[in-house]
Amino acid sequence: MIDHEKKKNGAGALLAAGILAAAIAGALIPAGMTGGAPSAAENTEQAAAENERDSTLGERIKKDGEYISDVLEPAGREGYTSKELLLINPWHLLPEDYEAELEDVEYGHRMDACAAEHLRDMLADCREAGYSPLICSSYRDRSKQEVLFQSDVRKFMYRGYSEEEAVRETAQNVAVPGSSEHEAGLAADIVYVGHQVLDESQEQNDTQQWLMEHCMEYGFILRYPRDKQDITGITYEPWHYRYVGEDAAREIMSRGICLEEYLGVIDKDSPALPLQAEED
Ligand SMILES: [Zn+2]
Repeated sequence: MIDHEKKKNGAGALLAAGILAAAIAGALIPAGMTGGAPSAAENTEQAAAENERDSTLGERIKKDGEYISDVLEPAGREGYTSKELLLINPWHLLPEDYEAELEDVEYGHRMDACAAEHLRDMLADCREAGYSPLICSSYRDRSKQEVLFQSDVRKFMYRGYSEEEAVRETAQNVAVPGSSEHEAGLAADIVYVGHQVLDESQEQNDTQQWLMEHCMEYGFILRYPRDKQDITGITYEPWHYRYVGEDAAREIMSRGICLEEYLGVIDKDSPALPLQAEED
């Protein structure tokens, strides 16, 4: 197996874990809170407003069988509501009940149906051109990720760490559930078969250079470029390809921007966040 473990920055991971906890609890901060103890009438009104907001959010997340996040409707990008453009990063977690429509790609690797065929085509053409790409990670089951994460948290707590400390320590090595594009079946890690190490040296081989140059033709982008770490929150990964559809991929790759910039969703807090690794 490939060494897939990478160190994350603890503070960034902790924040992501906090976001995760909030997401799991379904915690939506009520808007327009006023000072002082609310009256019974205000409580009822607030509860009604929260219910309305919850159902609106639910509709936005799942519409016509397609999952849509509210982050897909940023200013200037109202039309971009397809699954391919779902934004998943440390600040925008995948909905907990998200289910990818899985399809086989090769050697047991699966991707969402919207991306699988395009990935097969890209790999076939890359091999046809004389190179040797190998998928080393594709769809990753969320429940496995959660079991893995919680199991490590318990190990730390058994050793005397507080729950908060245990989560922070765990998040240094295990991706916070919900923050990985692999859980949506929209991303694949592809390496040169003769060099399966996941570090920056991956960019130096001919297979990877072919993929970087041609991925947009198949609707894929190199998701975590070197110069966009402050925006994506993820360190440079010259092996992680994300399916976004051909139009978006061509614009993103040819302009040298990242998905957050394309969608117009740059989290104002993100530049201040320490970087973390996306994988496992
Ligand atoms: Zn990846």
